[in-house]
Amino acid sequence: MDLGIKGRCAIVCAASKGLGRACAEALAAEGVQLVLNARGSEALEATASDLRTRYRVEVLTVAGDVTTTAVQQALLAACPQPDILVNNAGGPPPGDFRNWGDEEWHAALQANMLTPIYLIKAVVDGMMARGFGRIVNITSAAVKAPIGVLGLSNGARAGLTGFVAGLARETVAHNVTINALLPGPFDTDRLNATLQGVVEKTGQSLEQVREARRNGNPARRFGQPQEFGAACAFLCSQHAGYITGQNILLDGGAFPGTL
Ligand code: NAP
Repeated sequence: MDLGIKGRCAIVCAASKGLGRACAEALAAEGVQLVLNARGSEALEATASDLRTRYRVEVLTVAGDVTTTAVQQALLAACPQPDILVNNAGGPPPGDFRNWGDEEWHAALQANMLTPIYLIKAVVDGMMARGFGRIVNITSAAVKAPIGVLGLSNGARAGLTGFVAGLARETVAHNVTINALLPGPFDTDRLNATLQGVVEKTGQSLEQVREARRNGNPARRFGQPQEFGAACAFLCSQHAGYITGQNILLDGGAFPGTL
């Protein structure tokens, strides 16, 4: 299927690795010009160079922490009229809420709620005026089924989800959609970092913990980042203008509910 977005311009945040990178790659494969971001410039430049070579699209980079105003402004300077925005940042650390104070909560809210909202605020009016916009927020399956030790993530991402639920109904008449993709366990560095906590607690090897997690999923495997990227590219396509305000789980069927 031709997604109909060749030549469009996308800002993809936190995109040197993992799910953000997979979204960038799926968009590049459709001929979308990219502005990519991550903090570490080495991996970011390697990703940008790989995508330029393989897909023959323009790829600009902005290295730095996307939760800072300076980096948000640099992204918008590199792509002043984006057609597509993929919001993403690292997830907050696990822990016990009794140990979290202002510092921990502000960091989680800044990364996983306020930064996406600030970037949406910066781009959404222009998208509506131009009559096309696709915004995808990478959140987490924890939005639908909270994970006890990830209270910072549960809280911050629920805040973003609630905000977007209102706005997404105001923009869609202008062909601007806002949706979220909710990853379950995808095989990325983040997943291994999360599972490392179980390794330390149980004394099992990382491979034993990974196997138990794979077997516990109805699909008997982890998701592959390319599968996530393909879903993102479809939501960004010209065909997806009637899908807005949705929170789409990609979890191999792990969430046990009927709806
Ligand atoms: P990942 O493989 O660790 O990749 C994270 C990417 O984000 C890297 O490119 C990293 O590069 C960049 N990044 C992190 N913090 C950043 C920041 N403040 N500013 C700019 N770039 C930043 O992680 P992932 O698995 O793709 O996860 C992406 C998101 O999905 C996270 O929020 C994660 O919590 C969530 N999630 C993932 C899973 C899963 O199973 N993978 C499940 C549920 C939710 P630098 O470190 O160089 O900045």
